[in-house]
Amino acid sequence: MKQILRQRWTDLYAKLRGKDAQATSLQISEARWKLALEGSDMGVWDWHLDTDRVFRSDQWHEIYGYSGEEVGDTATAGRQLIHPDDLAQAVQDIRNHLEGNTPIFKSEFRMRCKDGSWKWTLSRGMIVSTGPDGRPLRMVGTHTDISERKHSEAEMRRLAHFDAITELPNRILFLDRFEQEIRKAQRQHQSLTLMFLDLDRFKEINDTLGHDIGDRLLREAGQRLLGCVRASDTVARLGGDEFTILLHNLEDASHVSRIAQTIIERIAQPFHIGNEVVYVTTSVGITLYPHDATDIETLVKNADQAMYAAKSSGRNCSHYFTPSMQAAAFQRMRTANDLRSAVQASQLLVHYQPIVELATGKISKAEALVRWDHPERGLVYPGEFIPVAEDSGLITAVGDEVFAQSVRQTARWRTICPDFQVTVNKSPVQFRGDGRQQERWLELLRTFGLSGDSIVVEITEGLLLDAHPPIARTLGNLHGAGIRIALDDFGTGYSSLAYLRKFEIDFVKIDRSFTANLLPDSDGLAICEAIIVMAHKLGIQVIAEGVETETQKNLLIQAGCDYAQGFLFAPALAAEEFEARFFPQA
Ligand code: C2E
Ligand code: MG
Ligand code: MG
Repeated sequence: MKQILRQRWTDLYAKLRGKDAQATSLQISEARWKLALEGSDMGVWDWHLDTDRVFRSDQWHEIYGYSGEEVGDTATAGRQLIHPDDLAQAVQDIRNHLEGNTPIFKSEFRMRCKDGSWKWTLSRGMIVSTGPDGRPLRMVGTHTDISERKHSEAEMRRLAHFDAITELPNRILFLDRFEQEIRKAQRQHQSLTLMFLDLDRFKEINDTLGHDIGDRLLREAGQRLLGCVRASDTVARLGGDEFTILLHNLEDASHVSRIAQTIIERIAQPFHIGNEVVYVTTSVGITLYPHDATDIETLVKNADQAMYAAKSSGRNCSHYFTPSMQAAAFQRMRTANDLRSAVQASQLLVHYQPIVELATGKISKAEALVRWDHPERGLVYPGEFIPVAEDSGLITAVGDEVFAQSVRQTARWRTICPDFQVTVNKSPVQFRGDGRQQERWLELLRTFGLSGDSIVVEITEGLLLDAHPPIARTLGNLHGAGIRIALDDFGTGYSSLAYLRKFEIDFVKIDRSFTANLLPDSDGLAICEAIIVMAHKLGIQVIAEGVETETQKNLLIQAGCDYAQGFLFAPALAAEEFEARFFPQA
C-alpha cells in the first residue's frame, strides 16, 4: 500500500514539477486533491448527475474489496450496495443537499462488501458544478470506513444500557423502556405490571462466599427470571440484588399472581455454582398500571413498598401494593430517624424473660429482649424496630447497648445465682461487620470479670446457611471464649442437622409455632419429640419457646425437653421486676 502511494506521489510530483509540459493548472489542482484524498484512507467518488455515471477511485474499491468492474459505474449500481435499512435516509440526505438545504452532503450507512459483510461508511460530498439554470450537474465526494467507530459507539451504548454481570438491561434502559411501555399502554388502553424483586439475604452470600460466587448467582438468577416471562417482557437489574420485571397487558390478575409464584419457586431452587450449592429466596413487590398509579415515579415507589411488605411478612413471597403501605413506609422512615437518637438518649431497655429448667423448676437463665421506651409512642417492641435497625445499620449500636446492659445485669445476678446465664439475640447483620463488635463484647466481659459461659448468643438458621469461613470463625471465636451458642427459632428455616454438628451449637430453641401445636398425640408433639431426641444425640440441649399452658409444659417434660420459656412462667420483665420475682432473697 505504502509503495503504491509512493509511486503515485512520484508520478504526480513529476507532473507538478512541470516535467509533463501538458499539465494545465486545472489538472494540477485536481491532481493535488486526488493525491491528498488517495493518501488518506478515503475512497473518492465523482458523480455526473445528467448521465448518472460515477467515477470511483481505487481506494474506494479497496475499502469494500471490489475490483474495478464489479460495481457498475452508475450511482444506481452503487446505491444497490447500501443496506436496505439505511437506504431511505441516505437518499433523503442526498436530496437535501441537491435541493440546497445542506451546504455539504453527509450521510452514514452500511455498504455491502464483496465478501458479504457490511461496513459502516461515512459519505461526504458537495456539488462542484451546476448548469446555467442552477441545476446540479456534478458532485464529488468521499467514502470513509467508520465501522470501528460505529462498533465502539454500539459497545458504549451497550455498556451504558446493560448490566455487565447479568447482561440484562440496567436502570437507565429499564426506565427508558418503562416510559415507552407506559405511553403505549396509554394509547392502547392496556395494563402494565411492575414487579420489584430482591434476593433475600443475598448480601450474606456475597460476603461469606465471595463476590465471584455472588456474581455468578446474580447471573443465574437473571436467566431464571427471563425463563419465567415472555420474550417481549422486560427483566432488568437495577443494581445490587434488585431486579425489576415489566409485564405488559396480562389479560387477568390471576396471570400476574401465577407468574409471581413461578418466579418465587424458580429462585428457591438450589443454585449449583462451582462446588457450592447455594440457596436463596426472593421477595416480590407488585404494582399495577393504571390501577395503582399512572406515573413511573409512583409506580416504582409502590413496587418497592410492596417488596418491603413481602420481606416483612417472612420473605420468599409476593405482595401487591396497597395504599396503606405508604403509611407504613412513612412510619418506618420515622422509626429509623427516631432510633438514631434513641441509643444516646438511653431509650433502649432490656427486659428479661426467665428460662426454666424443666426437671427442677429452677430459673437458671433469662433471655434479654430489647424494648424501646419511645417518648411519644410508649413501649415499642423489637418486631417493629429491629428490622429497621438491620436495614439502616443501626443494629450494631442497638446490639452493643443490649449487650452492655445484659452484661451488667448478668454480673449482678451471678452474685445471687453463680451459674446464671443470659441469652442475647444477635442478628445476622451483626456478623457482617469487621469482627470488632466481637472484640468489644469480649473486652466488656473481662471488665466485669465474667467468664464466657455467663452469656449465650442466640443466632438464627439463616446465618448458618451457606456459611463460609468468616462466620464459622466468628462463632468459633465466641466458643473459644467460652460463650455458648443457641440456635433460635429452630424448625422455621432449613433446620439442617449438618449445621448443628458443623457449628458446635450448644442449645436449640424450638420455635413457638411448634410449641403452640403441642397436644397429646398431635403432629406438633411428634415434631418436638423428634427435635429433642435428635439434639440430645448430638449433645445439644433444648429450650422450648412460647410455652403458654400446663399441658404444653407437661408434654415437654415427658418428651425430655431441658428448658422452657413462655408466658406460662413469665413474660419478659424489667430487671427490677425480674429480680423481685425470681431472686426475692437479693
Ligand atoms: P425471639 O428471640 O424468638 O424471642 C422470643 C419472642 O417471643 C419474644 O418477643 C418474647 O416476648 C416472645 N414470647 C415469649 N414467650 C412467649 C409466649 O409464651 N407466647 C408468645 N406468643 N410469645 C412469647 P419479643 O420480645 O417481641 O421479641 C421478638 C424478636 O425480636 C425476638 O424473637 C428476637 O428475634 C428479636 N429481638 C429481641 N431483642 C433483640 C435484640 O436485642 N437483638 C436482636 N438482634 N434481636 C432481638
Ligand atoms: Mg431469641
Ligand atoms: Mg425465638
